[in-house]
Amino acid sequence: MFENLTNKLENIFSKLGSVPSLTEEQVDSGLKEIRLALLEADVALPVVKELIKNIKPKTIGREIIKSTSADQMIIKIVNDELVKILGSKNEELKLNTVPPASILLVGLQGSGKTTSAAKLAKILEKNKKKKVMLVSLDVYRPAAQEQLRLVAESNGIQFLPIVESQQPIDITKRALNAANLNGSDVIIFDTAGRTQIDLPMMSEIKQIKDLTNPSETILVADSLTGQIAVNVAKEFDKSVNISSIILTRLDGDARGGAALSMKHVTGKPIKFIGVGEKITDLELFYPDRLASRILGKGDVVSLVEKAQRDLSEEKIKKTEEELKKGIFTMEAYLSQIRQMKKMGGMEGVMSMLPGVSKMKAKMSEANIDEKILVENEAIILSMTPKERQNPKIISGSRKKRISKGSGVDVSKINKLLKQFKMMSEMMRKMSKGQGIPSGVIPDEMLNQLK
Ligand code: GDP
Ligand code: MG
Repeated sequence: MFENLTNKLENIFSKLGSVPSLTEEQVDSGLKEIRLALLEADVALPVVKELIKNIKPKTIGREIIKSTSADQMIIKIVNDELVKILGSKNEELKLNTVPPASILLVGLQGSGKTTSAAKLAKILEKNKKKKVMLVSLDVYRPAAQEQLRLVAESNGIQFLPIVESQQPIDITKRALNAANLNGSDVIIFDTAGRTQIDLPMMSEIKQIKDLTNPSETILVADSLTGQIAVNVAKEFDKSVNISSIILTRLDGDARGGAALSMKHVTGKPIKFIGVGEKITDLELFYPDRLASRILGKGDVVSLVEKAQRDLSEEKIKKTEEELKKGIFTMEAYLSQIRQMKKMGGMEGVMSMLPGVSKMKAKMSEANIDEKILVENEAIILSMTPKERQNPKIISGSRKKRISKGSGVDVSKINKLLKQFKMMSEMMRKMSKGQGIPSGVIPDEMLNQLK
């Protein structure tokens, strides 16, 4: 599956090599090659454009996380964008209705409807403990009904008996009756396909939809046909409004384009993929798993995820170390404010600092307004890195700029700076083992915070 695309991407990534960071030129030429590889894999042009557009800004000038390399970072970025375009998460079948729920399988001839109907029945019986009845409405192709009867019977799935020369609408009515009588939870209708989209097929599907009010109208599409499958999906959706997609033959050496384009182009989720001819060869569709199959780089993706987690832990640790040494920066203050917001207030943060239980009590007495935390965060975010490192340089004109950026009054910026000064003074004293200066500073600080 996707072998060609996987190999091409592999080459591109290895050319990027294990460098510490990438220049814009390197990124550009890498993206150009990725773009080509995707187009050759038959991914629809708008989808390719969207992917490249989203990947680019995330790569240039990006700091490489320690213990990973540029190519690994890019693999992770491409992976995340692929997952997004594939639909992010697995979407379950919608069957929450008064039973029996109807599922209509629609699609062109040979796309895999009959096979998928049986596979789906098996999954619903096994995983969801549903009682399923299979119904064939394909009265046009000789032996089509017989085909479904055979798979149903050999797999112990209930099948609506064939009545010679009965037409689809009447079969549907008979099926609804039978399901009510025998207590089926789900009826799966295998509709008749055509070699190409035509009006009689669509109008027949519409009539059956009206009769059954289906919970799902699933388009079964053959991934081997690439862009054609995507266009077919669009057409079906326009005429009969599909709710989801089963993409078949992903076991073959499909170029993969259909899988990548389907969700983006039709807006409808792929819910299952067919990966073989056997009854068990239908899988729930998981975008992240498919992305990692395409990239062939699941290990790298988890490696980078781990590095990202380590990094944020490292940042917290560094701040803690600095605090112990009495170094208090705006960065540290910012991360405190964020933690305060997360932990629901001042108390949580103060409890992290050594020897401040006395002050903690006062803090909670003071009942500090959460709004101030939000404003203070906005103020610090509007500072440049230099200003955060050394707040002393924040002059009148800088204050005006910060005020504009944060939407917070200059008077409040002054307040924050004063408060910051006091806190850093306190940290410095505490680190020298002098403890909290008794009385005066905490009270003043509280007034500042109010
Ligand atoms: P229908 O005309 O839409 O009902 O298509 P069928 O269900 O009869 O399938 C046509 C052919 O495709 C059959 O030979 C199936 O065994 C085969 N087929 C269906 N789904 C898959 C799949 O996911 N992988 C492979 N390899 N073959 C499939
Ligand atoms: Mg069929």
